[in-house]
Amino acid sequence: MMEACCAVSETRTTPSAHVCPLCGHRAKKVERLTMEHLLLPGTIPQIANTQYYFCETPTCPVVYFPYDASAAMFQKMNLRVRVGVKEAEDPVPLCYCFGITRKDVWDEIEQTGKSTAVNRVKGEVQAGNCACEVKNPSGKCCLGNVTRAVQEGMKMIRSLSEGANC
Ligand SMILES: [Zn+2]
Repeated sequence: MMEACCAVSETRTTPSAHVCPLCGHRAKKVERLTMEHLLLPGTIPQIANTQYYFCETPTCPVVYFPYDASAAMFQKMNLRVRVGVKEAEDPVPLCYCFGITRKDVWDEIEQTGKSTAVNRVKGEVQAGNCACEVKNPSGKCCLGNVTRAVQEGMKMIRSLSEGANC
């Protein structure tokens, strides 16, 4: 199950990564199916018949951009959900399948000193309950983002307790 969910399909002839025209960073392919589920209904007809890429640069408003530069690109405001990697203020969604936000993870760390989020997501993925392809704007498994948020949270807690010891 985990393999299927997190697998990167390489079935097309377009490059697996492409440079975002706005921020200049490389971005990975995204499936049309993902875009159809995450874009606002009114913008779906604008999806062109070309390969699209998902820009994950935090400061870049572009979410999906086309391989064919003449086709429409889509920004944060065109999506039905907040794109976690592009948001600094709560709520910052991490896991779209099970509704875990950054605040959930940080609150748990603050209260218990650790996070169970990664194991929770892994368990759900193994049980076949994940639907990243149609729920996560990246179309990919969220585990990397959840893990990063846990590391950030743990680091903050450590620096807080070190400060208290001074
Ligand atoms: Zn970008």
